Amino acid sequence: MANFDFNLRKFNTSNIYSYFLNHPEATKQELATNLNLTLPTVNKNIDYLSELGLIQVSGSRGKTGGRRATTYSLCSQAKIALGLDITKHHVSCVMVDLYGEIISFKRNRLVFEFTDSYFEDVAKLLEAFIDTNQIDRQKILGVGIGIPALVQSDNQTVFYSGIMDFRQNTYEMFSKYIPYEISMFNDAKASCFAEKWVNKDIQNTFYIMLSNNVGGAMIINGQVYSGDNFRSAEVGHITLVPNGRQCYCGQCGCVDPYLAATNLSQDDLDGYFEKLKTTTDEKTLDDFDKYMDYIAATVNIVRSILDCDIILGGYVGEYLEPYLDEIKKRAIKISTFDSDADYIKLCSYQHESIAAGAALHYIAQFINTI
Ligand SMILES: [Zn+2]
Repeated sequence: MANFDFNLRKFNTSNIYSYFLNHPEATKQELATNLNLTLPTVNKNIDYLSELGLIQVSGSRGKTGGRRATTYSLCSQAKIALGLDITKHHVSCVMVDLYGEIISFKRNRLVFEFTDSYFEDVAKLLEAFIDTNQIDRQKILGVGIGIPALVQSDNQTVFYSGIMDFRQNTYEMFSKYIPYEISMFNDAKASCFAEKWVNKDIQNTFYIMLSNNVGGAMIINGQVYSGDNFRSAEVGHITLVPNGRQCYCGQCGCVDPYLAATNLSQDDLDGYFEKLKTTTDEKTLDDFDKYMDYIAATVNIVRSILDCDIILGGYVGEYLEPYLDEIKKRAIKISTFDSDADYIKLCSYQHESIAAGAALHYIAQFINTI
């Protein structure tokens, strides 16, 4: 019985906390009505969550003259999580709050090398970011690190790293210099996690990450499908053009060397897409035309196998809106079954999704403890 009470209490507390995560504010009466709870239960939980510093009085509501009801809201920065996106030439830092929103980000140029001084520099960048944002270090839940490599489910063991020289002891190297809890995530899986955060209803979806490398993640029945060897959804290494361009993986003709963001710009996608709007340069236009064909062909392969929605995300995803109709047209043209291509979507979590997705794991973990 005691255990049952405890579980019920936790269930009520977590329901009330979830309500605040999904609503900007609420009165006790609203909580009681909407969550089907008694007022004494609501009172107890409001006291408990307030003591923990997780919710706060935000104001009051009601008619003037009549009794006004106190409103409560989430302390969105009671805890925060940090995220890093590690690429060949840059390290991006983000801070996310308990709503899962990015409160601050900074992109730093830092050339990757597997040396102590590199990992020390990453830690210094992170500390500087924490200082600039005046983050209370006690509030940091952890640091999620998105890397272009495959990582085991322990979020510590790198087992494939063709792009950058991440070694067996990568986790130890980060841990040596970063004094917080850390976890490592495959970049595409992290990105997809961020996407699922804002689209909680996603059931069956394939996420294509068009960043400096091309990765993917698959959600089936609302769950990430990892495969038998934690290398599912590696869309970047589907053979798109037999004997085609050299891929970093050692093979030729993979999707990656055709769709990686670096095909468009090494370093400045903002500038590239701005220029693309007005350019008359034939080579630029022709290259982008082919790029859209390669997207359509890749999408067609995935769609033929999985018959589900496909989200175009990653660095390039946030710029594709003006070209989406054209990409859809091309996908329909080569499709055997589809007469429309509404299944092709653009990512909703557009900015810094790798770093944010890595950080969001800590936010999700924390929310589960309430
Ligand atoms: Zn490849």
